[in-house]
Amino acid sequence: MKIVLLGPPGAGKGTQAQRLVASRGVVQLSTGDMLRAAVAAGTRVGLQAKAVMDAGGLVSDEIVIGIVSDRIDEPDCANGFILDGFPRTVAQAEALDKLLKSKGTELDAVIEVVVDEAILLSRIEKRVQETLANGGTVRKDDNPDAFKQRLVAYREQTAPLSAFYASSDRLKTVDGMQPIDRVAAQIDEILDGVVAA
Ligand code: AMP
Repeated sequence: MKIVLLGPPGAGKGTQAQRLVASRGVVQLSTGDMLRAAVAAGTRVGLQAKAVMDAGGLVSDEIVIGIVSDRIDEPDCANGFILDGFPRTVAQAEALDKLLKSKGTELDAVIEVVVDEAILLSRIEKRVQETLANGGTVRKDDNPDAFKQRLVAYREQTAPLSAFYASSDRLKTVDGMQPIDRVAAQIDEILDGVVAA
């Protein structure tokens, strides 16, 4: 099963994706995680991406599409994958359709986690406080300024994806302001419908 999860930063996409990894045996492909790993490893991609990521901007489509294309060819993706944080622009969504088509496959489901931006900001502040309280390190782009910039980038570049997928009748939405379990149950209902179809 090949799934795209849409929704602004802080909407809980990562949490839901991890659940689906456990329940559906798919691989979670988070472009944010892959890029952070590249930065940590000091690869060429990492060096190119670092400054943009620290400022909360978007890494170039070319870089991101390249890492996704390579990753979905790996054997562990054969049973399906859940894309988290990709596509982020309509250009990326179009590239993804093309990429999957060239590999003889297509998306099974596109699910948008819909949330309230003001509540997101308070969620992110809470996440920072909890991480610090647990002695962890806060991601550079989890400070409120970079987070606001990520929200702006989302609104300008990623929100149009809803219309893109809706126009081809592929978009399903869930209310992300509900408790995590409820969001999870709604996502399950959608995916069960896809399996049954
Ligand atoms: P995330 O963990 O998904 O919030 O991603 C963290 C950062 O990685 C983003 O703020 C972007 O700088 C970069 N990034 C992740 N995914 C993408 C993508 N699909 N396109 C462009 N930049 C991305």
